[in-house]
Amino acid sequence: MSTVIWWVRRDLRLTDNQALHAAIAGGDQVLPLFVLDQRLLESSYTGAKRTAWLFAGLAALDADLRSRGSRLLVRCGNPADVLAQLCRETKATAVFAERDYSPFAVRRDAAVSSALPVPLHLKPGVTVHPPEMVHKEDGNPFIVYTPFSKRWRSLGQVRRSDILPAPQMVQTPGEPQGEAIPTAPHLPPGVPFAAGEAAAKQQLSNFVMGTKAPIFAYRRLRDQPGADGTAQVSPYLRFGMISARLAALAAYEAIERADDEDMAEGDARKSADTWLAELIWREFYVSILHYFPQVRGSSFRTEYDRMDWHNDDAAFAAWCAGRTGYPIVDAAMRQLVTQGWMHNRTRMITASFLVKDLLVDWRWGERFFMQHLVDGDPAANNGGWQWTAGTGTDAAPYFRVFNPILQGKKFDPDGVYVRRWLPELAHVPDEFLHEPWQMQTSDQTKAHCILGKDYPLPIVDHHAARERVLAAYSAVKAD
Ligand code: FAD
Repeated sequence: MSTVIWWVRRDLRLTDNQALHAAIAGGDQVLPLFVLDQRLLESSYTGAKRTAWLFAGLAALDADLRSRGSRLLVRCGNPADVLAQLCRETKATAVFAERDYSPFAVRRDAAVSSALPVPLHLKPGVTVHPPEMVHKEDGNPFIVYTPFSKRWRSLGQVRRSDILPAPQMVQTPGEPQGEAIPTAPHLPPGVPFAAGEAAAKQQLSNFVMGTKAPIFAYRRLRDQPGADGTAQVSPYLRFGMISARLAALAAYEAIERADDEDMAEGDARKSADTWLAELIWREFYVSILHYFPQVRGSSFRTEYDRMDWHNDDAAFAAWCAGRTGYPIVDAAMRQLVTQGWMHNRTRMITASFLVKDLLVDWRWGERFFMQHLVDGDPAANNGGWQWTAGTGTDAAPYFRVFNPILQGKKFDPDGVYVRRWLPELAHVPDEFLHEPWQMQTSDQTKAHCILGKDYPLPIVDHHAARERVLAAYSAVKAD
């Protein structure tokens, strides 16, 4: 009986898993393995919530495998050593894994490949279309989203027949043994996502099924952090609990249904198509990280590495704690540290506030997000931060500075989001909710919210901060 190893990394699923599929075809027995790599677990870009979510995902995968006659073997160590040892123990003839594109993953996989006595086969799956397939006519990578997305779309629609079914059975050897899947730290109670493939499919299905599905109202609601208008599937895509293809298929099928049926939402088709466009943004940033690995650590537009950041520790600490005095910023930061997730609109607002109002290096914010986000993803997070800072590919122009008061009034007009996360502002009237410092002392008393005591006064004046950051960016451009 020949044995092959299925090395699980960020593809914690059985459905539509090209690496698993190839492993089953490549040997009589498949040994599923996850390696707990201390370099990742102890990195300053890792956090307790994402680690706990990963462990919960491993437990779910193990249960899914056991129901198919298999199990997940877990070992600790450097993957090159663990895999080389396991190949010796099991006489495995090959290792199969899903190709990953972060600079760390690329280095790790090269090291593993050269340490192994057998071939390491890397299969696509992190994205619908592998980055090396989405390039310009001349072979160069795209650095602007719109032409990237056109090329991506031209590669063909995902069809249901493309989706590989989960195997009925996975034949796995009884030996060798590994370690128990860690259960500590437990998933904090605030994290609203259940881990695992079944939960992932349910979450996607809630978003797309039925004629009144949220996907058809996406364009109208996606920018309101107080409405559950987005899919909230990012943690599942991050760890591959659903495949990128399955998510894209859901979008394509919704577009077709919108064409066929009489939809309640007038722009149902456009809504579903906008959601597909977001999935393509995800693939755009994977491609950027693949072709320009230097963006992890430095600005894509290198001139911005000369920025004279203010980097005030106290201001950064206030931002992290959700105590800047700007309610939309503070609500979002409290959502982040409680849930390990934040709405996209408020990711942009908080990132802009840190970089532009506080003049703090975007890399500080990028790291803090990675420490807290359950969906923390090196490509999307770096892309989002560099976009907001104006230092990245296809980025927001440097002179675009989000006004946190206007953003709050526009996207949380009735204060649902701010009141949810800042109970101390529960009784503040709507007219003052996004600028509570405008309240007279008598209003503060009536609202049970004394500024400077129950809720902070603003740590910066937005208008002055805007002038300061524009001067700092202009100085770099003039150099
Ligand atoms: P939906 O709106 O339902 O979109 C569906 C999916 O499309 C998402 O799950 C995600 O996979 C993808 N997507 C949507 N918007 C983007 C985008 N702008 N860039 C890349 N992919 C996108 N996303 C992450 O997955 N991990 C991160 O670490 C991350 N960090 C970010 C940091 C900043 C500063 C910003 C501005 C954005 C970041 N994003 C990140 C992108 C985006 O905010 C989240 O993907 C989105 O909020 C997830 O919620 P959802 O699943 O409801 O998204």
